[in-house]
Amino acid sequence: MSPIRRLSPELANQIAAGEVVERPASALKELVENSIDAGANRIHVTVDRGGKRLIRVEDDGEGMRREDAVMALERHATSKVARLEDLDSIDTLGFRGEALPSIASVSHLTLKTKPHGSQSGTELRVDGGAMGAVTEVGMPDGTVIEVTDLFYNVPARRKFLKSDRAESSQVIRAVTQLSLAYPKVGFMLTSGARRVLQCPPVRTLDERFFQVYGERPDLVEVYKSAAGVVLRGYVAALTDHGPSRGPQHIFVNHRVIKDRTIAHAVHEAYSQASIKPRTPEAHLFIELSPERVDVNVHPMKAEVRFLDQSLVHELVRRAVGDALGKPSSAPLPVRPKSLGSLVPTSQSIPGITQGMSAASRWAGVTDVFRRNKTSDPMSASSVGAVPAAIGVGETTIDATRPLIPLGQFRDTFIIAVDSEGVAIVDQHVAHERILFEQVMSQLAGGSLDGQRLLTPIVVDLPAAQREALSARSTELLRLGFEVGEFGGDSVHITTVPGVLARAEAENAVRELASDVEGLDRAAGVDEVLQRLAATTACHAAVKANDRLTQEKMLYILDQLWRTEYSTVCPHGRPVVLRLTRHEIEKSFER
Ligand code: ADP
Ligand code: MG
Repeated sequence: MSPIRRLSPELANQIAAGEVVERPASALKELVENSIDAGANRIHVTVDRGGKRLIRVEDDGEGMRREDAVMALERHATSKVARLEDLDSIDTLGFRGEALPSIASVSHLTLKTKPHGSQSGTELRVDGGAMGAVTEVGMPDGTVIEVTDLFYNVPARRKFLKSDRAESSQVIRAVTQLSLAYPKVGFMLTSGARRVLQCPPVRTLDERFFQVYGERPDLVEVYKSAAGVVLRGYVAALTDHGPSRGPQHIFVNHRVIKDRTIAHAVHEAYSQASIKPRTPEAHLFIELSPERVDVNVHPMKAEVRFLDQSLVHELVRRAVGDALGKPSSAPLPVRPKSLGSLVPTSQSIPGITQGMSAASRWAGVTDVFRRNKTSDPMSASSVGAVPAAIGVGETTIDATRPLIPLGQFRDTFIIAVDSEGVAIVDQHVAHERILFEQVMSQLAGGSLDGQRLLTPIVVDLPAAQREALSARSTELLRLGFEVGEFGGDSVHITTVPGVLARAEAENAVRELASDVEGLDRAAGVDEVLQRLAATTACHAAVKANDRLTQEKMLYILDQLWRTEYSTVCPHGRPVVLRLTRHEIEKSFER
């Protein structure tokens, strides 16, 4: 073995940097957190090539005196913690005194800073951890830190960096999260030549949320306060096509964290609302006194430990559950219509629906089965008359045939029969299931045909979603979507899959955007395609409250039959409710 040596400070910092600085976005997060800790009102972040070439953070915070600026670049130098007890009540984002020296050890770093009331500022430069010249400069109050060529001296790390686009979407995500955590601070993010985020200071979370995400009728507000813990935020509403997927942002005392307990509580709330959760979008902001949460458990401060974990879990679960119980801010349009009776279709079935009360209708249906079962000589004609009357030709009701539609209930469910009994089919989820399988099988053979729109549709989207869309443009193209940058906050949709109506294109793309934003960076192509296919199917499918023609009902049931009566939609909702012949006969005491 070689003799033991003490690591040089530079090498020690480079090794420590491995923990704190994983990629440009994590370096940037540390710098912005320092600006926030310094009381900045406005923070301007600039990155180039996803932060690989340049990260620049400019703030109007309290700045540093010359000797503090020099100290700040030393390891374990911090102005935020002085005693061990301070760790119990940290009210700043930083406290470890590691970020600046770590970043400086693996980049070229220039720091310019001027404290309020001082005549001039200080500029210092560090290259790969080696401190260079310290000079006096003229500048406005505040601090500017420029980090260039991150990991230039750590090839092993540089190798692991992703494409410019992937790194820049991480950067956007980090700045977006910090901006949500601090509405009173103004944020601006410039990436390359593009202004991606611009949020002037506002007073409330609501206002900031609006700046970042715009009007979001698909989210519901969450609020609960108990036992000194306050939770507020927004989560995906339970809409007709399930809760929208999207990012799950969790903030504890303004710190962006990952937390299994909270994620689990959210999951439970959706499960209890009897919806199979598919990482529903959630933005949750938790506040509690700093003594009740240990923030010093993770080098990147990405996790915390709650003193009372089960209390937090219960609070989140209940708050989200309550919020889901309320109608979303934009309730689904429900057309007024007559009360729940079977709506006879234009071509009604002789002997079953014509001129009968609802009860006798069911009796009539039972009768058909009974006769069918007992091979009553009448059955051939009466059963034969059924399909003829509804236009399926020489069909008899038997187990090898698809369901035969009798009509619609509330324009939302198809009531159908086959030899096994009565089926109530959710028209939306059934059609969705069918389209999903069709889309997936077409994808297996290549791609879907897109249909070029005569005039493109322009949609405003948050920066992170625009970025996520372009990062997944290959997969979208395979589905038949062409979505391009349109400048400013907008994208334009020029091509949509043939199955999708133009009127649905905008909503579909909005949901696809939140899908891809919520997807794991590492998600494989198949997973991405499957998610996108589910969303496309959902938007292409007939909706609840759509009046269907007989042909459409037949088509849906016929295709559903081909999908082997898949009992759940791609989002996990049930498709068919069955009332078996046995149940029916038992109920009528036959
Ligand atoms: P920590 O944030 O954990 O204290 P850092 O290495 O991130 O450690 O920063 C070291 C110190 O440098 C901070 O404690 C703070 O005093 C000072 N500092 C860093 N960035 C800024 C800034 N933008 N404005 C004012 N002071 C700063
Ligand atoms: Mg810090």
